[in-house]
Formats: sequence, structure tokens, C-alpha cells
Amino acid sequence: SVPDADPLLQVLDKVFGFRSFRPGQEGIIRALCNGRDAFVLMPTGGGKSLCYQLPALVREGTAIVVSPLIALMKDQVDSLRQLGVAAACYHSALGAAESRQLLARLHAGELDLLYVAPERLLSEGFLARLSDIDVALIAIDEAHCISQWGHDFRPEYLQLPVLREHFPGVPLAALTATADPQTRRDIVERLGLQQAHTHIASFDRPNIRYTVLEKARPFEQLQRFLARHRGESGIVYALSRKRTEEIAGKLAASGLRAAPYHAGLPDALRHSTQEAFLRDDLDIVVATVAFGMGIDKPNVRFVVHYDLPKNLESYYQETGRAGRDGLTSEALLLFGYGDIALVRSLIEQSENPEQVRIELHKLNAMVAYAEERGCRRRTLLGYFGESLEEDCGNCDTCLDPPETWDATEDARKALSC
Ligand code: ADP
Ligand code: MG
Repeated sequence: SVPDADPLLQVLDKVFGFRSFRPGQEGIIRALCNGRDAFVLMPTGGGKSLCYQLPALVREGTAIVVSPLIALMKDQVDSLRQLGVAAACYHSALGAAESRQLLARLHAGELDLLYVAPERLLSEGFLARLSDIDVALIAIDEAHCISQWGHDFRPEYLQLPVLREHFPGVPLAALTATADPQTRRDIVERLGLQQAHTHIASFDRPNIRYTVLEKARPFEQLQRFLARHRGESGIVYALSRKRTEEIAGKLAASGLRAAPYHAGLPDALRHSTQEAFLRDDLDIVVATVAFGMGIDKPNVRFVVHYDLPKNLESYYQETGRAGRDGLTSEALLLFGYGDIALVRSLIEQSENPEQVRIELHKLNAMVAYAEERGCRRRTLLGYFGESLEEDCGNCDTCLDPPETWDATEDARKALSC
């Protein structure tokens, strides 16, 4: 155990079994323990949960954690319980008896952490109940969901600003793995964060090589790519459910261990596909964007985008599933101008004109990335407000500078009304 008397390191070691903090964690944790607000932008896998879990144990009272997905809440609560931490989650799938029992524990001050779905937190009466108990801190996980500028806006998050009014003295933490500068400002403003300790991690993933290929015969291009990655683990993202099945079927027929994954498949099948992938019994998952959230597989060697993603936030998150182990990995985008019109028409199905405007703006940035002739990584990081001193030397344009291809005119046509 840790010899010196730093109480934070003691808790880190004794409860969580970690010897040291990851970059950024200590400053965030100290700020929250001292009652300050915090804004945390850290890539997936960076260790955001600890930033509020540890202060939750150090500070008096119960920490309230807002999280958008019941599955993610349950996972966290399960692992906390295994560590001996008193944690629970409160969501709409709980029965009446369970809810009563949970609220009783809350009132008795027995809980260190309570995970709550936003609609539950804001439901009538619950905030009033909370005002009777000692709240240690409030953490808003996946905080980008509060911003219409974020790519995963959730209306339930819009009511969260009332938290500041209800709990004026309680430190608030907003955490996200994905926010461009505008979304960040939005989060800070909406939640009313004050002089927050701000930690913005570098988003650079130097071990991922980014490549864009002009889409010509996509399936053949995919096959050629996969031939260089035999036996390796990877994800191929496609826009439609039907297409994931077609591609996976053809790959399987050619002898590769590939299977489709999308939200329309039966739960049991999706589950077994995911398990097989995690166990390396399956090499390639051909999926819609429904695949990947909450999956932490270290040895994913490649992520291919068969079709154009809607925005750079999604693209970055999806490609970021490659190379979590730090080893050399590839992100390949097949970029065809036909896809722009397709994505555009999907975006325009929304009834909300403001939303359409924002999403088209994001699509433009996605297209600009695909057309980029300079360092690909510089563009990607620049989008998230980070600048790169030198060209990365590990993307297609750095390794093989483009000469003549200029299809800007086509792109402009495809994007205009
Ligand atoms: P995020 O929410 O940022 O995606 P998590 O909080 O889920 O990341 O943490 C990712 C992984 O890192 C978890 O397995 C967690 O236990 C581990 N982890 C977090 N902090 C540390 C640390 N200080 N030392 C070692 N492992 C850590
Ligand atoms: Mg997380």
C-alpha cells in the first residue's frame, strides 16, 4: 500500500486498486474534493468515471451521477459494488418496491453514489427528495448530450440546468469524450459552471493511421484492405442495416470470420456477435453506428468506414475504437460524392430546421476532412480545437502527398440545393 499519507492516493489504492492517477485525473479530483466545479473533456477510456467516483467517496454525502443509458449505469454500478462501494441506479425500469427501497437507503445516507437517468432525476418530487439529503457532488456524464451542437443531443438533458438552482453550493462536474469548442461553451453555459477546473485532454491518437480512399468499387477496395489485415480484429461501418448484412455475407462467403450487427437484429444475436468479437472468435463486425458504444476491446486493429459518416464527432469516436492498446492501427474511409447526397437526405428528414442547419454544417466539415490535401490529423484535431505543431507523418496525405486529384467542384455541386 501507499506509505505517505495523501488521502486521495490512499483511496485510489485501497478502493480502486490503482497505484497512480492517469493524466488529468488528480487535478480534477482535487478540484471537486475542494468544492469546485469541473469541466472534463477526455477521450473514451481516459478514465473519466474515477474523476467523480473518488471525490464521491471522499466528500460527505451522496454523489448524484446523471448518465443517459441504463446499460452504462448498470455496468458502472456493478463494478463499483464489486469494489465494495455503496452504489445504486435509479431509472424508469425499476419496480415500485425496488424504488421504495432505494429511496429509503438514499434518505438513510447509505449511498455513496446514485446513478440517475435524467428524466428520473427531474421527475416530480425527486428533486424535492434530494433537497432533504446531503449531496456530495453532481456529475453529468456524456455532457455533450445537453447541446444541440453536440452530435448526440438528448432533449431530457435540456432540463438539467435546474440542478444549479436546486443545489447552489454543490460542485458540478460535466464530463464528455466528444465536444467541439462550440459544444464546450454550450455545456459550460447551460449548466452554469462557475470558474470550473477545466481539463481538456489531447485527442491525438498517434498510433492510428488515417487514410481516405476515393470510393470506386468499394467492396473490392475493402477486400484489398482486408487482405493486408488477415486474422486481425476490426470493424467496418456502413450506413444501412441492409448493407451491413450484404457486406458481412460476402465477406463470410469469401472465408473471413465476419458477421453483421445492427439494431434490427434480435437481442440474443447481437449479444452473441459482440461476445464472439470480444473473445476474438470473430474477426470482423460489419455494423451500423449502433455498434461500439461501451465496447472496450484493446486489440481492434482497423476501423473502415464503407460510407460517409454524418460528422467528425462520430467519425472520431468510431475510428477511436481502433488501437486502444497503443499498437499500430488503421482508419480507412471510403469517400464517394454520391454519399454526400445520401447523408444529406437523411439529415433533411428531421422536422427541426435548426437541427438540419447544424447537421449540414457538420456534414460540410466531414466532407472537408475527406477532401483535405494537407495533414489529415491536423484537420481532425483542429476541428476539436487542438493544433498540431508539425504534420503527423502518419496519415495518407503525409505519407503519400496528393498530386492532382481535385474534385472540389463535384463536392460543391453535391452539397448545394
Ligand atoms: P471513460 O469514461 O473516460 O471512457 P472509464 O472511466 O470507463 O473511461 O475508464 C476506462 C478504464 O480505465 C477503466 O477500466 C478504469 O478502471 C481504468 N482506469 C481509470 N483510471 C485509472 C487509473 N488511475 N489507473 C489505472 N486504470 C484506470
Ligand atoms: Mg465514461
